[in-house]
Amino acid sequence: MPDPKLNLLVDLQKARLQNLERSEWNNRGIRVEVLRLDQIHPVISGNKWFKLKYYLEEALHQSKQGILSFGGAYSNHILATAAAAREKGLSSIGIIRGEKGQKISPTLADAEQLGMRIEFLSRKDYRRLCGAESLEFWTKSYPGYCIIAEGGAGSPGKAGAAEILQLVDPGDYTHILAAVGTGTMLAGLIMASSLSQKIVGVSVLKGFDKFSPEPVLSAARGNQIQILAGYHFGGYARKNPDLIRFMNSCYDEFGLPTDFVYTGKLLYAVFDQINKGSFPAGSNLLIVHSGGLQGNRSLPAGTLKF
Ligand SMILES: *Cc1c(COP(=O)(O)O)cnc(C)c1O
Repeated sequence: MPDPKLNLLVDLQKARLQNLERSEWNNRGIRVEVLRLDQIHPVISGNKWFKLKYYLEEALHQSKQGILSFGGAYSNHILATAAAAREKGLSSIGIIRGEKGQKISPTLADAEQLGMRIEFLSRKDYRRLCGAESLEFWTKSYPGYCIIAEGGAGSPGKAGAAEILQLVDPGDYTHILAAVGTGTMLAGLIMASSLSQKIVGVSVLKGFDKFSPEPVLSAARGNQIQILAGYHFGGYARKNPDLIRFMNSCYDEFGLPTDFVYTGKLLYAVFDQINKGSFPAGSNLLIVHSGGLQGNRSLPAGTLKF
């Protein structure tokens, strides 16, 4: 029996701005607002929807039968791909990293309910066959399908992510801050921002202290860009009690739910940087809440208060 909440369409009107207030921030002349892309749909939230937009147009334009993409068992991108394909009347295939476990994850169960065909690949084969450099293998194997790199990376993904800033008046902000995985969303934000704004990315992957992700580098036009590399909490999808405590306290203080892979680390980093005095008086910060809350279903019950 399909879960009725999966059938609701994405509603961009619901991406409201939330003002976060602390008297110490007010006193220092720092305004903080969060763009709640997590609100656009109960499970298909956030930036993945935007990154898929132009891939879907491409698939329809080329009269493809469907779209095929890649991800882990809790991937926000896989779920968004399944939903977006369904909405456009396309079929979808998800190539999933790792062997099929005894129990399918809630994310993949939702994706299947949305009509996605799920295929599992061993981690070794996934590494060998599913990188951005191996997409041709899939184009040949599935000629009727539009092949989308993991996470919706690539030019269409950047162009779609640039439209996130159409939801706000971007001129209101001195700083735009977002989590960085592949860097595709940040690249889109850079493309849509003005040169006087500072774009700050918080890397959720280990190893970006020496260089920036390629999409970010290629989008830069002399913008002021900063990648904060010290908030990955051990690497992708890693966490510690400090992060979980922070996420619960952020919910208590502001009613703001976050996910442990991306937005929890983003908010942690931004608060820490405010406290360290990194933003001058008069700064107006826009934090992009890129969604991903469904991924918290991989945590043991009771870990989070929300
Ligand atoms: C995928 C994802 C990101 C990272 O986006 P990139 O374009 O890969 O950098 C950030 N936040 C959430 C919630 C995501 O699902």
